[in-house]
Amino acid sequence: MLYTSTRGNQEMVSAARAITRGLADDGGLYVPQQLPVLSLDEIMAIGKKNYTARAAEILGKFLSDFSADELGECVKKAYTKAKFGDEPAPLKHIDHATSVLELWHGPTSAFKDMALQLLPHLLIKSLEKTGENHKVVILAATSGDTGKAALEGFANVEGTEIIVFYPEHGVSDIQKLQMSTQQGNNVKVFGIQGNFDDAQRGVKDIFGNVAMAEKLEEEGYIFSSANSINWGRLVPQIVYYFSAYVDAVRAKRIKAGEKINFAVPTGNFGNILAGYYAKMMGLPVERFICASNSNNVLTEFLSEGQYDRRREFFKTISPSMDILVSSNLERLLYHVCGKDAQAVASYMQTLKEKGCYKIRRQELLKVRDDFFGAWVDEYETKETIARVFSELRYVMDTHTAVAWRALEKYRIVSVDGTYSVELSTASPYKFADSVLGALGEKFDANDPFALLHRLKEISGIKIPEQLAALEKSPQLHDEVISVEEMEMAVLKNLI
Ligand SMILES: *Cc1c(COP(=O)(O)O)cnc(C)c1O
Repeated sequence: MLYTSTRGNQEMVSAARAITRGLADDGGLYVPQQLPVLSLDEIMAIGKKNYTARAAEILGKFLSDFSADELGECVKKAYTKAKFGDEPAPLKHIDHATSVLELWHGPTSAFKDMALQLLPHLLIKSLEKTGENHKVVILAATSGDTGKAALEGFANVEGTEIIVFYPEHGVSDIQKLQMSTQQGNNVKVFGIQGNFDDAQRGVKDIFGNVAMAEKLEEEGYIFSSANSINWGRLVPQIVYYFSAYVDAVRAKRIKAGEKINFAVPTGNFGNILAGYYAKMMGLPVERFICASNSNNVLTEFLSEGQYDRRREFFKTISPSMDILVSSNLERLLYHVCGKDAQAVASYMQTLKEKGCYKIRRQELLKVRDDFFGAWVDEYETKETIARVFSELRYVMDTHTAVAWRALEKYRIVSVDGTYSVELSTASPYKFADSVLGALGEKFDANDPFALLHRLKEISGIKIPEQLAALEKSPQLHDEVISVEEMEMAVLKNLI
């Protein structure tokens, strides 16, 4: 299977090359030329397998230049029991019409581990295939969870260097601690003066800087991205939509073939887009509920077809969704435009020049067939955490709560009672201060570890080992730089 750019410079590449490159030369994102389709029988057959085997099967449909043995090896290295426990993506049944897919049982307690524990192995294999004997430099801008998950995935992986930039005031105390204590002989972490979009723009500028790329190539380096625009990040995420579906059937929540909804806390549009791919591959899905916080640019887009980034940026208690430009939306545009890469390129150009674009009516109708957007403010987020805990004894983090509330809003306006799976993207421990605040607890905000212990008393859930260990880990990275200094920081670190 070959991949092409959403902006269509006609370049066609193998999966391996799409993964090593991250971004296409014309600035577009790589998309598969055609999609594999699974019959219902094929879908149900994966229910008999464990998660690693499910992953190998779905990955094999897309990464046709990898052998089954190679993929088997990659998934076994990624989803180990030591890192993910017995079940990497358990489906918890919460009420009669709702289950929660917990995607945070990996080493950094957030869903990004699902992809980022696998990506380094796919990348190393991809480099073997493309014959590039360069060292890969992973640059990542993060609103918190990606950074740590990427660091944890790439740390000490031979043939790679990783540099992570996070908005200095845009991540939680725990997230900051997780990154500043990262060990590894190939890792570097910088705080950025600015928000996530500033950091992301800085990284995009570096990727687009041809002179810099040439200079680094002379030194034996090539850039790649661990951000969710990389196809190697997206494809592992398709797996758990299939996995959740077959688990729901096995638990007799639905009959095989019945359509279900997925509610997804959304930022860069990567997670939910993976679900859309699963649907296009034959998974029976009625609708995706795209949940946003006060940064509700996607809600407006999904209802009106207008994407307008010219708006106030809010720092919320669900910071991994604090985003004005959702990069992966470009892939959705490509599909709803009927693969008209020229149209996509022109929307993206307009976004760059004017800060907004509007899709055509027939495209919007297509989008609305599959997606419903809803946004949830700070008060509602906290109220939801408190209410769901008091009524159902389920503690969720702020991002998950946004999706829970968005699903409730969808049910009210649509009168759609379809069984729904809500994707839970972070452990409540990762945002313990906000969760405790929502539960009405008083605490010392300056002691993140006291928070963890208090949350344990209330919830009875075990503190994730890696979070507990932060208490004794030394600080290794404390540099804060401006966006303009990012290029220099990369060069200095590598040459
Ligand atoms: C990254 C992240 C999201 C947003 O996922 P996207 O793929 O960027 O839409 C939501 N919740 C948490 C906890 C995250 O880390």
